Amino acid sequence: MTFPPSSQVPRMPDAPVLLIADEDPRARGVVEGELRKRYGVDYQVIGAGPADDPLGLLARLRDDRRLVSMVLASQRMPGTTGTQLLAQVREFHRTAKRLLLIDKRYGRAPESILQAIALGHIDAYAARPAMVPDEEFHLAVTGLLEEWARSNLPGPEVMRVVGEEWSARSHEIRDLLGRNVVTFRFYPADGEPGKALLDQAGAAAAAMPVIIMLDGRVLENPSNTQLAEAIGMQTSPGSGLYDVAVIGAGPAGLAAAVYGASEGLSTVVLEPEAIGGQAGTSSRIRNYLGFPNGVSGEDLAVRAYTQAWNFGADYVYGNPATGLRVQGPERVVTLAGGSEVRSRTVIIATGVSYRRLGIPSLDALIGAGVFYGAATSEAAAMKDREVFVVGGANSAGQAAVHLARYAAQVTLLVRGQSLAEDMSEYLVQEITSTPNIGVRHNVMVTGGAGTGCLESLTLQDRLSGTTQVVSATAVFVLIGAQPRTHWLPASIVRDRWGFVVTGTDLLAGGHRPANWSPQRPPMALESSLPGIFAVGDVRRGSVKRVASAVGEGSVAIRLIHDYLGGNHS
Ligand SMILES: Cc1cc2nc3c(=O)[nH]c(=O)nc-3n(C[C@H](O)[C@H](O)[C@H](O)COP(=O)(O)OP(=O)(O)OC[C@H]3O[C@@H](n4cnc5c(N)ncnc54)[C@H](O)[C@@H]3O)c2cc1C
Repeated sequence: MTFPPSSQVPRMPDAPVLLIADEDPRARGVVEGELRKRYGVDYQVIGAGPADDPLGLLARLRDDRRLVSMVLASQRMPGTTGTQLLAQVREFHRTAKRLLLIDKRYGRAPESILQAIALGHIDAYAARPAMVPDEEFHLAVTGLLEEWARSNLPGPEVMRVVGEEWSARSHEIRDLLGRNVVTFRFYPADGEPGKALLDQAGAAAAAMPVIIMLDGRVLENPSNTQLAEAIGMQTSPGSGLYDVAVIGAGPAGLAAAVYGASEGLSTVVLEPEAIGGQAGTSSRIRNYLGFPNGVSGEDLAVRAYTQAWNFGADYVYGNPATGLRVQGPERVVTLAGGSEVRSRTVIIATGVSYRRLGIPSLDALIGAGVFYGAATSEAAAMKDREVFVVGGANSAGQAAVHLARYAAQVTLLVRGQSLAEDMSEYLVQEITSTPNIGVRHNVMVTGGAGTGCLESLTLQDRLSGTTQVVSATAVFVLIGAQPRTHWLPASIVRDRWGFVVTGTDLLAGGHRPANWSPQRPPMALESSLPGIFAVGDVRRGSVKRVASAVGEGSVAIRLIHDYLGGNHS
């Protein structure tokens, strides 16, 4: 189809566009037909060949204020590739999903495609429809559309949030509601609609953010607990005795909840913020078993939450655990609001918080060139690229060495004057003897930019104060992770960084932990208090991955069966 000039673009403000760019008219026709059949009522399907100039078309759609939900491009395009074309889509439509169409193939996708995904240039790839209907093709399209619609199509405004756009609490509330899948709209307090809402609600502008509920209730600067209560979540536990109290609803805690509840244990999950933990903040987890195109952290969290709920797990929101004690056969968890949870066993799954750079423009590009924590899974995709690593301790050093096997050049950005300050000698030597690793000392990242994916970083020299903008395709930030264990009693042994020590690691020097009463040694994953287990990132020696956290959560339930069975109490 030849697309009409801008002035003739049919005005269908409610119909977002699905654009197919393919040089082969026959193949394009098949995709167009399939999409029209399934999505023609709600979306406008447009096919574009080379003569239609797909990028020009995207520009015209942007100028006409049309929403583009997805661009599907064939890899073969004259003078360019589908990957290159898709990499430019977000310059015109910042939220459009980008699906690369390839020929039906068996085996591994070419490296260039995997690289494009890792760098955030495309969202996924799928084989063109090979038969009609091709449900595998539609699954890829529907999955991406569902993600797009969740954040781009107006839902019922269950909550209206009025606040200062750049205030930290406004951001926290938006983040909390979004991660808990509550549909809301944010109104800046200095805009006319925001002011009108405040007037109507009779709310004091001083007590912002103000939340106006669908049923007319008004909350002025609510706490997380008040917010959770307002959306109907349970915020205090029942008075009964549980078999398992799981502290933290990240992947490790959710897995423990699914296995515990499904295996007949009465299970409660305590979570102060949002389900999914760190994983819930990841735009796409690509290395979790069974999701070849990756899965958004939010999606994975919602699925796991629902699964545990269906098996009968209880959830208590909004109140962090603040204390834990042993009371005879019971383990008692105290919550911030003062209430207590009584349980026969406890699983600590409170994870870690990665230190962030705290630069909003870079936080917006997490997963699209900005990576926190792990470099391993992204390394191969960095082949022949120039990448940056921020941090001066061992984790940053290891990441730099690993990335140097693939990347053309790795630049390590270190705040201090020398690597030796925080890094092991063997790593310092390895870094200095690796030709494609460069180290910049006394430097800090103060900004960054990119449309859809990282394009540049702003670096500041800490001695002279001068700043420099460097082009960058990827930055790995490893400036420390803190286990969330400050609230635990001293009787739960932790290492010097605060990670919970478990199992045989507690038997240093052949001795059992002080005050350890059972005749047996601690089980794997068991802490220095019998019947209290630690799983996932919070545990000393854990692998910081979604899959390993999930694995540990399920293994802990097996051990709890043994413990409750009396063999190990
Ligand atoms: C941006 C990002 C992207 C990532 N991408 C990947 C990836 O692609 N693949 C991969 O394998 N790994 C990835 N990881 C790492 C992975 O997310 C973690 O290894 C995993 O989430 C650890 O799970 P967890 O349940 O142990 O802890 P967490 O996910 O940290 O969850 C801990 C939970 O405990 C809650 N909590 C904390 N304190 C308390 C308290 N006092 N009381 C009650 N609850 C509490 C927290 O609110 C949180 O919900 C990523 C991490 C980040 C930050």
